[in-house]
Amino acid sequence: MAALMSVAEALRLVLEGATPLPPETATLSDAHGRVLAADLAAKRTQPPDAVSAMDGYAARAADVTHVPAQLRVIGEVAAGHPFDGQIGPGQAARIFTGGVVPPGADTIVIQENTARDGDSVAVTAPSAKGRHIRVAGLDFKAGAVLLSKGACLSARDLALAAAMNHPTVSVHRRPKVAVLATGDELVMPGTEPGFGEIVYSNGYATMALARSEGCDTVDLGIAPDRLEETVAAVRRARESRADILVTSGGASVGDYDLVHKALAAEGLALSFWKVAVRPGRPMMHGRLGDMHVLGLPGNPVSCFVCSVLFLIPLIRRLTGRTDIEPRIEPAILGCDLPENDERADYLRAALTTGPDGPVATPFPQQDSSMLVPLAKADCLLVRAPHEPAARAGGRCRILKLDL
Ligand code: AMP
Ligand code: MG
Repeated sequence: MAALMSVAEALRLVLEGATPLPPETATLSDAHGRVLAADLAAKRTQPPDAVSAMDGYAARAADVTHVPAQLRVIGEVAAGHPFDGQIGPGQAARIFTGGVVPPGADTIVIQENTARDGDSVAVTAPSAKGRHIRVAGLDFKAGAVLLSKGACLSARDLALAAAMNHPTVSVHRRPKVAVLATGDELVMPGTEPGFGEIVYSNGYATMALARSEGCDTVDLGIAPDRLEETVAAVRRARESRADILVTSGGASVGDYDLVHKALAAEGLALSFWKVAVRPGRPMMHGRLGDMHVLGLPGNPVSCFVCSVLFLIPLIRRLTGRTDIEPRIEPAILGCDLPENDERADYLRAALTTGPDGPVATPFPQQDSSMLVPLAKADCLLVRAPHEPAARAGGRCRILKLDL
């Protein structure tokens, strides 16, 4: 029997030929987590003029070197309300945070160091030239490229883009992910399952993951285990112009595993159909025209783990992100583990904090149908094919499930 394909090779094939989707213009409120398709340069200088960083008095430093000093208050400046006068010797203007520093003034005496009496103000502590003044361009200057093509826009980046005076940005289009379940035994949550039926769950996790990665989703529901209906569902995915079709279940070689047959009937260019991974061996990948297809196993844990390993990187590639592979981090093993077999293992595990860092302890039951340990897990403990037996306290590798 041919050796199963490694996770790394399978991921390489999934990403091969996957390129970022074309750019589109998005408002800032629709751009969080999306990837810039072009450099973004500041359209203005920030702050555009010297402004006060404090509430107090704009004055000439030379007048407040020796204190106490008495100054005459000739005007007032607040944010958005500049003062058109000039500060001469012995003069000051009342100023509030964000107010433009009037010409002639070169320091701000903070309110706490003054005593006001009608038109005059007594300064009780010296204030050096430039003190509490934000010079023009302190933050950035017009023309500076402050966000580069390829940046995944954080909440902070959005505030920066707005301050740069961009109401919209050019970002890669959101991928559209169509999600299809297969299985005669599946009924929707909230319905009473009949004898031999179970409640559909996979799609909720897959769609939530896709949406948190910035995708639009199309819920194709459940196709019964009949070829025509599976084919019809695949056609609906194509009609919805999905970039990715994710199926769950029916990916094995049983009599009722019709996903491959249906996809083949529609013209699938299959790239692989079995990966050396646990959970999740019967998983397939291919292309139907422009649509990427991931045929994931039906067991809920397999479906989820394969989504983390293959769907998320594929989505990230389409969105233009460059940090696309799951982050593997070091941890300490919380229990002994036997030698691994030929499949890479992704064990559901709890994370605790030990004296030497995070400790990962796999749950005793790892059945790929079990949603409770999956939901309770903090991480997947990753074991390479044929990894030797390991002792508690040794090093291990984890993939955090903060998803
Ligand atoms: P299959 O890959 O179709 O043989 O399914 C493997 C196992 O996963 C079976 O026990 C199915 O009932 C279960 N399963 C398949 N699809 C789903 C789903 N969408 N939600 C929950 N369980 C499922
Ligand atoms: Mg099935």
